[in-house]
Amino acid sequence: MTDYDAIVVGSGFGGGIAACRLAEAGRRVVVLERGRRWGKDDFPEKPEQTPDALWHPTLNPRGLFDLRLMKDLSVLTAAGVGGGSLVYANVQLRAPAEVFMRGWPRAITRAELDPYYTRTEEALMPVEVPEELPKMRAFAAAGRKAGKDAERLPLAVNFKDERHHPFSGAHQGACENLGRCDLGCPVHAKNTVDITYVKRAEDRGAEVRPYHEAQQLDPPPDGEWLWRVGYRDLERGGEGVLSAPVVVLAAGCLGSSRLLLKNRDRIGTLSPALGSRFSGNGDALGAAFDPRASDVGDPHTDFGPSMTSRLDYTREYGFMLADGGLPTRFGGLLEIVRMVDSLHGWRRLRLRAERLLAALGLSDRSITDRHLRAQPPQRPIAESLVFLMLGREAAEGQMRLTPLFKCFDIRWSRKPSEGLFSAMRDVSEEIARRVDAEPFFALDTWPLSGFITVHPLGGCPMADDSAAGVVDDAGKVHDCAGLYVLDGSTVPTALGVNPSKTIAALAERGVEKMIDNRAGGLW
Ligand SMILES: Cc1cc2nc3c(=O)[nH]c(=O)nc-3n(C[C@H](O)[C@H](O)[C@H](O)COP(=O)(O)OP(=O)(O)OC[C@H]3O[C@@H](n4cnc5c(N)ncnc54)[C@H](O)[C@@H]3O)c2cc1C
Ligand code: SF4
Repeated sequence: MTDYDAIVVGSGFGGGIAACRLAEAGRRVVVLERGRRWGKDDFPEKPEQTPDALWHPTLNPRGLFDLRLMKDLSVLTAAGVGGGSLVYANVQLRAPAEVFMRGWPRAITRAELDPYYTRTEEALMPVEVPEELPKMRAFAAAGRKAGKDAERLPLAVNFKDERHHPFSGAHQGACENLGRCDLGCPVHAKNTVDITYVKRAEDRGAEVRPYHEAQQLDPPPDGEWLWRVGYRDLERGGEGVLSAPVVVLAAGCLGSSRLLLKNRDRIGTLSPALGSRFSGNGDALGAAFDPRASDVGDPHTDFGPSMTSRLDYTREYGFMLADGGLPTRFGGLLEIVRMVDSLHGWRRLRLRAERLLAALGLSDRSITDRHLRAQPPQRPIAESLVFLMLGREAAEGQMRLTPLFKCFDIRWSRKPSEGLFSAMRDVSEEIARRVDAEPFFALDTWPLSGFITVHPLGGCPMADDSAAGVVDDAGKVHDCAGLYVLDGSTVPTALGVNPSKTIAALAERGVEKMIDNRAGGLW
């Protein structure tokens, strides 16, 4: 006997949607989330708080960002009820139809996903920024000089009045153009997963347990039907075990892949494709510092949502280039990205030592305040154009446990995607030149490693058979009754656009099929 029909691990896009739809269907759901709940007054406000914002399971379980240092790349994700939605830039884009033509299960096409994309809009409610902000005017002018028209992006933000969210009833303010979307919105104007799907799930009886980190997965013993999930309580200490006939892993690309890799021997029947098809979704950062062209001056990139518009180079090169912004006082974060010299003395030495350990397969730890501290910005970032690029890279990265010490690691190389990244460099530098600015391209200069992504995908790729993928087109783990993965880890190719909407649509589809297929069966 068990208290739950389903255990959901993680509460980001995949987990929030799974919990909500299962609870709506009358299932008894418990959600294990390693991070805390974030109220609107809890987010970091000053640069000095940046170190406290870095999550660590023992040193800082109250943190917001999980920064992982690997040998070949670094990955930034979020911790907390609501997952990546807490810190994301709100961009909600459907992936182009061509994306689904290679490397996906036969059932998944753009036409198949369209109704599920639409379903996500009930909760996330994307709209364009209703007015032309200075940053949008400047970005559009820069685009025109390079021969491209800017398009406004659909953002999951409430721009109108203070309200109760129509999907969940949660109270939220209207956007005040504070530019802090990537640090957590202090007025809850973002339609994040915690105040939409998770709130609705809880109103329908789901139990959410923050600070609960899932660690161990045990399949039902012969003749039984209950999965067991072992967890650590990061707030009070101690461990526990929950059981249910269904387990939904939604711990994100790194979280779910890591859980399955660490529990592979216990589960026994997992696909050889586990860990494969990793991509950083072709993330790259560029900038045009101090533009002197008259129609691009004073862009005030710290005023308004972090991302508002894009130049679409999908047809030419398979990538898009969006505008970016940070609150002025946090401009120092860009300094960390820009140059190794922004870290001095023992901090730099510690980081180098950490890199060496990662390279030797001895460490896969989250980076904490002992390593990083935001530097004062060397130039007013609000007066420069920041470009965030996402592209259809090769998705040939491999997650694994290192041979000797069994540390989680990602092998990734830019080589198979060299053409894409050099096109990104050329385009961003060309735009900078056209606006008479100093160009900057960040793929190589990040001091933590050569490449950083905030859009990791793959590791538990979906495919029609278990030789090629870990899960089927609905997120059910091949040859493993009762185990599902619904998050970014199942996305088998780079998308070349911001991925959360596709992750959400796949989760809506997967949980719908799970509920249909299990109707009348064991729960
Ligand atoms: C700064 C930033 C800006 C971004 N901007 C955009 C954007 O504008 N548009 C877009 O589409 N995407 C954006 N993204 C990416 C987007 O946030 C992710 O693609 C998305 O959140 C992934 O959803 P998910 O459900 O796979 O996982 P997540 O949203 O990452 O959720 C996973 C959850 O699982 C929890 N977890 C992990 N391991 C465990 C465990 N063992 N036990 C319990 N809980 C666990 C985590 O704490 C987390 O809450 C951005 C990301 C960042 C970091
Ligand atoms: S711009 Fe400010 S108020 Fe608007 S959504 Fe972003 S953080 Fe919230």
